[in-house]
Amino acid sequence: MELNYLTAHELREKLQSREISSTDITQSVLGRIKSKDKDINSYIRIEEKSALQSAREVDNHITGGGNIEDFTGIPVGIKDNICTRGITTTCASRILKSYIPIYDATIIKKLKKNNYILPGKLNMDEFAMGSSNENSHFGPVKNPWDKTRVPGGSSGGPAASVAAGEAICSLGSDTGGSIRQPAALCGVVGFKPTYGMVSRYGLIAFASSLDQIGPFSRDMEDCAALLNVICGHDPCDSTSINGEVPDYKNFLKDDIRGLKIGVPRELMVEGIDPEVKSSVESALKMAGDMGASVEEISIPNLEYALNVYYIIAPSEASSNLSRFDGVRYGFRDKSAKTLRKMYQLTRAQGFGEEVKRRIMIGTYCLSAGYYDAYYEKALKVRTLIINDFNKAFSKYDVLISPTSPTTAFKLGERTEDPLTMYLSDICTIPANLAGLPAVSIPAGLSSEGLPIGLQIIGNTLREDNVIRTAYSLEKAIGFKARPKI
Ligand code: GLN
Repeated sequence: MELNYLTAHELREKLQSREISSTDITQSVLGRIKSKDKDINSYIRIEEKSALQSAREVDNHITGGGNIEDFTGIPVGIKDNICTRGITTTCASRILKSYIPIYDATIIKKLKKNNYILPGKLNMDEFAMGSSNENSHFGPVKNPWDKTRVPGGSSGGPAASVAAGEAICSLGSDTGGSIRQPAALCGVVGFKPTYGMVSRYGLIAFASSLDQIGPFSRDMEDCAALLNVICGHDPCDSTSINGEVPDYKNFLKDDIRGLKIGVPRELMVEGIDPEVKSSVESALKMAGDMGASVEEISIPNLEYALNVYYIIAPSEASSNLSRFDGVRYGFRDKSAKTLRKMYQLTRAQGFGEEVKRRIMIGTYCLSAGYYDAYYEKALKVRTLIINDFNKAFSKYDVLISPTSPTTAFKLGERTEDPLTMYLSDICTIPANLAGLPAVSIPAGLSSEGLPIGLQIIGNTLREDNVIRTAYSLEKAIGFKARPKI
C-alpha cells in the first residue's frame, strides 16, 4: 500500500484502527521525497530527523490512548513563507536564506495542537511573486505530470508535493491566485478562504490586503478538515475576522439542487485554451444535470482586475519589503563602507529580478505625483469590482470559471515576457481583490495528459456554497488520475 498517496481522512481511519502508525506514514512520505524530489524540487528544506521524531512521539501518544484528531500524525508540507520556529523560512529568497524565525505562525501553532508532522518547507516563487515557480533562489519546481513544464506559482512546491505523493496535504498562500493556479496545473485541490478567515500572523507579507493562507489536498474532504484546523480569529492579526467558525465538514454535501451558478463571460473568452473551456463547460453541464441552474453573466469591471492588481500588489510589496535592509534579517553585504551603500548592495544582491521589478513598480505608483494617478485610482476601481461582485451574488450562489486560461506551460516559455506571465492570473485575481473564498478542483486532463482546473468563487464568508459545489462536482467528475513519475 502506498500510504503517501492516501488522503488524510483515509490515513486517520487506519491510525484509529491501529492498522498503521504515524511512523509508517512519515517514512512513506519521506521515502517518496528522497526518491523523487531531486527531480521535482518541491522542498527547500527536508525535516527528516525531526519528522521521524515527531512521528514516534505521536505513536506513543496514540498507544497511550491519546486523541487522534484530523492531521494527527499526518505529514503536511508548509510553504516557505510561513514562519516555523527554529526552522529556516526563506521565502525562496537569497536575502532570507539563513533566516530562522523565533516564533511559529499562528497556523503552525494550530497544526501543532493537533500533533501534525512537518516533513519540510516547500519551494515557491521568491516572496510569492510569480506564476510559475521559476523565480525561486533555490531553482524551479518541475510539474510532476511533465517535468519539462512549470507547476504554476507561487505555491509550486505545495502543489507539486501533494500531486507527487511527497506530502499528504500542504499549506500555501494566495495573493492573486498562488494557491488555486498551481493546484489547477498540478491536478489537486487548492482553496483560498475569505480574506480574514485565516490568521496571517507569521506569514511573511507580500501584499497585506490580498494575502491569505489556504490548503492543498487531494480531495474536498481533506480540504474542509484542514480549513477547520487553520481558520479562526487571532488577536495577533488585525485583519482577522472575529466571528463564528463553522465546521466546514458539514458543507460536504453531494447536493446542489436549486443552486444558482453564474458564469462570468469575461473569464471564459479571449485566450482561454479550447480544451480548458470544454472541460469547464462539461462540468457546468453536470451541475445542470444535478439540478443547479447555470447562466452566463457579465461582471464588467473584471476587465480592469489585472491592471488594478498589478498596481496594488506591487505598491504593498514595495512597502512590506522595505524591512529587508541587511540590518534586521538575513543576508548582509559586508563589504560596504557606509550604511547607505550597505542597503544598496544588500538589496541589489539579496533580491531576484522579479522582486526588484515589483519593488520598482510599487515605489513608482506610490511616489508623490503618481499616487493619485495610479494607486488611488486602482483603489477606486477595486471598489467598483467589489460592487460588481456584490451585484452578482445578489442573484447567484457561486460563480464558476476556469482557474487558469491554459494548462501547465513549458519551463522558460514565459520568463522573458513578464506581461504574458501576468496574464495567466486573469481568472484568479478578482477573488483576491474582493476578498472572496474560491477553490480550484481538478476538472480533467487535456489531450496532452495535463490537469485542467475549475474555479468556484463564493460570496464573502459563503464557504458553505463553495464547498458544497466543489464536493458535488468532485463526485460527478470523478478525477482519479495521478502523475506517472
Ligand atoms: N501570480 C501572481 C503574482 O505574481 C500571484 C501571486 C500570489 O498569489 N502570491 O503576483
